[in-house]
Amino acid sequence: MERETLEFDVQFVGAGPAGLAGAIHLANLIAAHDAAVAAGTAGAKAIGEVSIAVLEKAARVGGHGISGAVLDPRALAELIPDFRAQGCPIESEVTRDDVYFLTRGGHLRLPIVPPMLQNHGNLILSLGNLVGWLAGIAEAKGVFVLTETPAAEPLLDERRVVGVRTGDKGLDRRGEKKPSYQPGADCRAKATVLCEGPRGTIAKQLEHQLGLTTGRNAQVYSTGVKELWDVPAGRAHRGRVIHTMGFPLPNETFGGGFIYGMTDSLWSVGFVTGLDAHDPRNDPHGNLQRFKTHPLVASLLQGGKAVAYGAKAIPEGGWWAMPELAADGVLLCGDSGGFLNGARLKGIHLAMKSGMLAAETLFECLKAGDFSAARLAGYPGRVAASWAAAELRSVRNFHQGFEHGLFAGMLGTAVGIATGGRDLFLRDRVRNVPGYARMRKLGGASGAAANGGSHAPAPASNSVSGRFDGTRTLDKLADVYLSGTRHDEDQPVHLHVHDTSVCATRCRTEFGNPCQHFCPAKVYEMVPDPEHGPEAIKLHINASNCVHCKTCDIADPYQIITWVTPEGGGGPDYQRL
Ligand code: SF4
Repeated sequence: MERETLEFDVQFVGAGPAGLAGAIHLANLIAAHDAAVAAGTAGAKAIGEVSIAVLEKAARVGGHGISGAVLDPRALAELIPDFRAQGCPIESEVTRDDVYFLTRGGHLRLPIVPPMLQNHGNLILSLGNLVGWLAGIAEAKGVFVLTETPAAEPLLDERRVVGVRTGDKGLDRRGEKKPSYQPGADCRAKATVLCEGPRGTIAKQLEHQLGLTTGRNAQVYSTGVKELWDVPAGRAHRGRVIHTMGFPLPNETFGGGFIYGMTDSLWSVGFVTGLDAHDPRNDPHGNLQRFKTHPLVASLLQGGKAVAYGAKAIPEGGWWAMPELAADGVLLCGDSGGFLNGARLKGIHLAMKSGMLAAETLFECLKAGDFSAARLAGYPGRVAASWAAAELRSVRNFHQGFEHGLFAGMLGTAVGIATGGRDLFLRDRVRNVPGYARMRKLGGASGAAANGGSHAPAPASNSVSGRFDGTRTLDKLADVYLSGTRHDEDQPVHLHVHDTSVCATRCRTEFGNPCQHFCPAKVYEMVPDPEHGPEAIKLHINASNCVHCKTCDIADPYQIITWVTPEGGGGPDYQRL
């Protein structure tokens, strides 16, 4: 069967806020330019028909979209000034901000909300709903939004990116062709804009091939895990925003909780856990479950039930960890480019702005008929001159401050505010190490011993494993059910573990198989392996549970897990996340 080739002028990989804002802005710029030329008010010649595509791996736009989400509407207002009149799916304006420090059983409300956590003027919404709405606007402007189209590998002409190859369809579990087999298409474009989210499949390959991260800080990540809670009317507070520090995390681990009032009967409840923790039993899903047992949180959820679940990795490294944003034939936007303000817990506005700045660069390329590397290099310059860079530079050492624990991080944040982004020692740039490199081995004892010599995972210090009540606290499988996740079972496993003997030997001994803890969807299990002896264990991968959060690709201490795209359309089906 012949591989299909699709040719576009410009393609965005990923129908998230960056890709869709970029596609809409580019279509707007072209339309305005050509209208001005037609009216005789612009001297240049018309650009004419331009094919703009957005490639999306989910079955529908928004199906894989998840965020807190409290939106700073700055970029949205630049893109669509009358966004309210156009029906932007806003749940609520923010009406109240609270920040709490939680101890195991108590809480302390901060008398003043730190400036970066003040949300006056911001909007509570569902990212999935926002991008679904943006996709409709993009399509109305002639943008091709192609769902079930996962970009699996870059197409290179020497060092120039000329497009992406999408994943094959119709392969069975062993990789053999089924009657329904269809080879992936080659999507070629004059420029490809990567908006894949964190740890993008194409971006990761290009980082290695083109050296996009050379000389940069390591990108460090958290995993955000979230549930929607339907509660009796009046128990939730529409517009209320709560952030927490402390319980259930130890001082040394970065992260915190959030509760956003979407309606008077719907809370968005989530927990962010740093993936640069020392504890190999660090469990983002378990942390959310423990968070909900805190009396303050439990009182807000009383009488309610979880109705949706999802998880995603969050790039926390900030300004110094951003990769090269432009190379020959390719630009990086959104989470793929590290556009996230960890101090504000916000990335959507930066993602949208980055897509728009990429669009302005591409518009110049179209006018000049020149997509050379030199012209694409205008994009990082546009970023540097924008409010997005000013915002990111002002918190450029934020996450590094938390490497020494919560209190050092808070002090560092205060110094950063006073100095415009410098750290406690007034350094402009604080270097870091990748999060996985900070994972500590199980204290001297072998992992097998720490696990009681059995195949059972070590009881995580920060997990409620085994104590889920099925109502307030849910186990991973119950939550996966709420994520709507589905994959065709008869397809190749999309989690590539390059040497599974490491799992059964070194990793078991040194770290106690942390994949069992950090995966928020119970994809990884160590099971008995009687063929190799009564004490032997082996890795079993429940790939169909995967919610595409990318945590395993990031957090594995041996860096031998590669998340590759499953068959298009597979994965979660997030509703209102
Ligand atoms: Fe996330 Fe990896 Fe687990 Fe999938 S397998 S849910 S990407 S940690």
